[in-house]
Amino acid sequence: MSVQTDCVIVGAGPCGLFQVFELGLLALKAHVIDNLPKAGGQCTELYPDKPIYDIPAYPIIGAQELVDKLMAQIKPFGPTFHLDQQVTEVTPSGHNFIVKTSAGTVIEARSVVIAGGVGAFQPVLLRLDGLDKHDDRQVFYKVREPAQHHGKHIVVLGGGDSALDWTLALQPQAASMTLIHRSDKFRAATASVDKVRALEASGKAKLMAGHVHAYTEENGRLTGVKLKTVAGEELHVPVDHLLVFYGLSPKLGPIAEWGLSLNKHQLNVDTEKFETSTPGIYAVGDINHYPGKKKLILSGFHEAALAAFAIKARLFPGEKVNLQYTTTSPLMHQRLGVETPKD
Ligand code: FAD
Repeated sequence: MSVQTDCVIVGAGPCGLFQVFELGLLALKAHVIDNLPKAGGQCTELYPDKPIYDIPAYPIIGAQELVDKLMAQIKPFGPTFHLDQQVTEVTPSGHNFIVKTSAGTVIEARSVVIAGGVGAFQPVLLRLDGLDKHDDRQVFYKVREPAQHHGKHIVVLGGGDSALDWTLALQPQAASMTLIHRSDKFRAATASVDKVRALEASGKAKLMAGHVHAYTEENGRLTGVKLKTVAGEELHVPVDHLLVFYGLSPKLGPIAEWGLSLNKHQLNVDTEKFETSTPGIYAVGDINHYPGKKKLILSGFHEAALAAFAIKARLFPGEKVNLQYTTTSPLMHQRLGVETPKD
């Protein structure tokens, strides 16, 4: 059975989050869907600890801090989040849209805002001929059920936080644990690097620096990986489960198949409503294109405000929607759940 809402927002990056706020001020409810397990888009995924200097009124703000503040700002409007799932289909149904995700969520929405940024973040694959036939049986790009890796000879590939965190988490129950990274310098939190090095020192895990270039199999089962070490040595490492954490890269993915007018990898919109070529489907943030477009967070915030007014007008034709200041309007205060000051 599908749920119904005023608006489905595809993408929980900063622009998708601010879209919730602008819709909420106009008393419109939203469901937000993101492929990633956390809200925040590029800010959270690519540069959480970096400072941003061009958010109005913040001389400096950390990228994750900005996302945390946006999450706090939209709290009064109680959006429903559907994380860790990709929007695969958006199909018109009468005046509404049926939105489907990879996790089987089905939502009937009166409007859709695509805030998909540079696309859905997908794991970077270990590209070796024919290796994909072992996907989800012996080769994993994500840990869904840690218990399925218990008692296995595990090889983890990568040198970032995910690689090190899963090495630490799975090692105690593994038959053996080997971490292979292209160099002996890791890109992870210092505390994790220290813990992994301590595991190696105590003989509980092996760390190897090198490049995995081939694999071995027997009777259809993956049996090991071949690597060339940084010292030029050829080695074979036996494996039951290979966990690959080479990071994430964005792919426009299914959005390109929804019949919307595209300019290269971006959706064409007008600059009055930020509506795509399909009436009722809007696009804000990095995903859209119009003359003069700049991929900046503040541009996305402006786009979200105008898209919200356009959606209100579409859903309530003939109803006059006045611009109301959040400072002084009792109606805005009521929607925000704050008290109107007595003067
Ligand atoms: P994104 O942040 O890209 O979020 C889009 C979300 O949509 C993602 O989480 C993705 O998983 C999801 N998604 C996409 N397709 C689907 C789908 N089919 N189903 C489900 N989910 C989907 N901008 C500034 O203004 N100032 C700066 O100083 C600045 N510094 C930056 C530094 C770096 C290193 C980088 C990489 C970017 C920087 N930017 C900066 C750009 C800024 O981060 C982007 O403009 C902003 O993140 C765009 O927000 P968004 O919400 O449009 O998209």
